[in-house]
Amino acid sequence: MDYEGFFAKAIDKLKAEGNYRIFAEIERHAGYFPNASRHTENKKDEITVWCSNDYLGMGQNPQVLKAMKDTIDLVGAGSGGTRNISGTTHQHVILEQELAELHQKENALLFTSGYVANDATLSTLAGNMPGCVILSDEFNHASMIAGVRHSGAEKRIFKHNDVADLETLLADIEPSRPKIIVFESLYSMDGDIAPIRKICDLADEYHAMTYIDEVHAVGMYGPRGGGVAERDGQMDRITVIQGTLAKAFGVVGGYIAASQKLVDFVRSKANGFIFTTSLPPAVAAAATASVRHVRDQGQERREQHQERTKTLKELLTDAGLPIMPSDSHIVPIMVGDPILCKQVTDDLMSRYGIYVQPINHPTVPKGTERLRLTPSPIHSDEDMAELVKALTEIWSRLALKWAA
Ligand SMILES: *Cc1c(COP(=O)(O)O)cnc(C)c1O
Repeated sequence: MDYEGFFAKAIDKLKAEGNYRIFAEIERHAGYFPNASRHTENKKDEITVWCSNDYLGMGQNPQVLKAMKDTIDLVGAGSGGTRNISGTTHQHVILEQELAELHQKENALLFTSGYVANDATLSTLAGNMPGCVILSDEFNHASMIAGVRHSGAEKRIFKHNDVADLETLLADIEPSRPKIIVFESLYSMDGDIAPIRKICDLADEYHAMTYIDEVHAVGMYGPRGGGVAERDGQMDRITVIQGTLAKAFGVVGGYIAASQKLVDFVRSKANGFIFTTSLPPAVAAAATASVRHVRDQGQERREQHQERTKTLKELLTDAGLPIMPSDSHIVPIMVGDPILCKQVTDDLMSRYGIYVQPINHPTVPKGTERLRLTPSPIHSDEDMAELVKALTEIWSRLALKWAA
């Protein structure tokens, strides 16, 4: 085996398809989001970021920064261990209490990321219940798919957000078998929202558990930032709510919130929880500050966020750009070709100082390559005018498809 040759060939194939990933090296400036610097070989340019998942700008919130700095001064950098062996600090325990409270569940459990939370929890739940069947939305995130695979349980895929298809599958399963319906509240590449109430109705009818990924909704939806399930009054009907501290909360880490017994079970059994060092206490303290802030003082920010999104969608529509219909703060623009998609974003960056990362395969299916804009409460009218002007010029120059 020519190992190096093998890697080189695989990379060449990605490049030929237009799917080779190039990372933008950016330097964020606390207090100036969405502005940042971008480093290239020998220079540094000022850019406006339009694709961050720091949706509310909490990554630079003064209370969050203060909590992180103060905690470092008090307790140092790392946690010093796994949760079981000296790594359960006071800061972790407080954060878990706060997350349980946010979602009105008996308990919560922290993981090092949202990815790990999904993988570890799903593999542990479905892998330990004999005969368990997973019903999984076809557009579920890679981390949930990993958890489903690692469980080794039987899985059935239902059509995206399609409750009729889900019901057909449920009706087909031997009633006594354990079942978990696995879905997201807000799908982050299309910006559409799941019919949570109807899925919970089916779960009741067929006696299934529900597992919801609210990663793109926590902090931003619901009167306390509890997510779409809170907004829709369904939080108490969901068995497991999974979220991240890395997107709207602006820090890092993942979690689940559920019943005391379920959390205790996952805590006791999940390798992805047990065999890894816990997050630094300063990270946990910063996340706690963020969750509290977003819960108690976030309503104005949530409203601003929705207003900014609505304004951006209107401006793009008026300009004739092909935005995809979305029910949320995520604004996708279809390009449908990986090479053109990358050309658009290269032009945005090099000619206009606007940073939008092209979204290509495997994040989205081939032929649906797109731009994915994430307006924040902090993007100004001027930022939006510049973005729309740049996109309009690029669309003309590259002769791309306008809205029908
Ligand atoms: C980003 C993402 C995750 C992973 O969360 P991290 O905290 O970034 O690891 C999980 N689910 C969905 C839907 C995501 O988009």
